[in-house]
Amino acid sequence: MRIHTITALWEDIPDDADDLVLVRGGFRVYLCLCGRPLADRTAAELHASETNQCTTCLGSAVENIVPDFSQQCTACAGTGRRRAQLTWQLAHAEAETMITVEFVRGLIAGFTEPFRLSEVADLARDTLNLPVGRLPVGPRVRDVLRSLEARGELVLLSAPDELLRGTSVMLYRDPYWEHATG
Ligand SMILES: [Zn+2]
Ligand SMILES: [Zn+2]
Repeated sequence: MRIHTITALWEDIPDDADDLVLVRGGFRVYLCLCGRPLADRTAAELHASETNQCTTCLGSAVENIVPDFSQQCTACAGTGRRRAQLTWQLAHAEAETMITVEFVRGLIAGFTEPFRLSEVADLARDTLNLPVGRLPVGPRVRDVLRSLEARGELVLLSAPDELLRGTSVMLYRDPYWEHATG
């Protein structure tokens, strides 16, 4: 049996590099232990898929966001497996239909003080009677809260926990918001 361990090596990153291209897999050289040439990110994802590995982390279970920051892969729940990634994709779709914008609006309507993402996610889980780990409640609630923020209904109060690339790629672990006034 061939071993398909895919490795991504960083290239030199120019100062004016496109941040979106960077975090989405650019500026890297992809290699597989089996020797298959992988010309770019798309080829690497295809090879990961045909060898039953997660197409986000390419089987490594770790997402390398920028050269000095990595995190456990969220797409496959840190398993590196394609099957886990597909299962988790379905769970994301299910979370989207259960946790609607209206539902989240209802959850936070009574909050007069600033509230954290984790509080709203816990409340959503309690209200829907979902055990922890059943659905990606936190990521879905975060998306909805960010959309309410983009609409001007909420104001983000917390500072980012990490500046990964100046202020263009930032990481918030458990951000908090308050209702916009007026
Ligand atoms: Zn291979
Ligand atoms: Zn993964």
